[in-house]
Amino acid sequence: MSFSELGLIPELVAAVEAKGYTIPSPIQARAIPAVLDRRDVLGGAQTGTGKTAAFSLPMLQILSGAEFNGQNKRPRALVLAPTRELAAQVHQSIVDYGQHVNIRSFVIFGGVGFQPQINALRRGLDIVVATPGRLLDLCQRGEMQLSNIEMLVLDEADRMLDMGFINDIKKILQLMPAKRQNLFFSATYTKEVKKLADSMLHNAVEVEVGCA
Ligand code: AMP
Repeated sequence: MSFSELGLIPELVAAVEAKGYTIPSPIQARAIPAVLDRRDVLGGAQTGTGKTAAFSLPMLQILSGAEFNGQNKRPRALVLAPTRELAAQVHQSIVDYGQHVNIRSFVIFGGVGFQPQINALRRGLDIVVATPGRLLDLCQRGEMQLSNIEMLVLDEADRMLDMGFINDIKKILQLMPAKRQNLFFSATYTKEVKKLADSMLHNAVEVEVGCA
């Protein structure tokens, strides 16, 4: 099985090949076609399984296929991550995989100045990768609109709940359209994680894998 056999466009296949990947990992082989099919996905996966590419590659493909008329300033995809380190890492992967497609992305987290984040939002973005607290803060300041979000990724959902982000996540969910594609990743499935997944996902494809 190759990346192009999963249905990825040549621009994305070239970017993964430049990273030295030749064979999709098990989670990529199962999740990429499901995401391209616009299905919700419930992924049981640890870090190290290749889950970042499993959601980033089809996300870049879906967004780059849409007509860009220069007026669509509001982000259409949001990735929520528990820590600034993970958010930065996921964003870097999106930049690397998206080098041959015309997609604007930015990473947003707390502990740094607001202005560069506000400037990027005002210029217009397709993908935002964010930690929940700063994202909500920007929404409450009227700088971030989630009304165009059509794809949401919750990465490391179990860690987000452990870190006490449940109320922020619930508030963020209220700010986006109910009709959207949801991709939910967690290494463990406690009662609380399952409850959150159930409240978000519709007819999800379940992908459970160990390390690649
Ligand atoms: P992740 O689970 O997304 O944090 O990815 C774990 C590591 O595996 C990262 O360093 C990726 O660069 C690498 N990786 C992702 N997909 C593949 C693949 N198909 N083949 C080889 N390495 C990969």
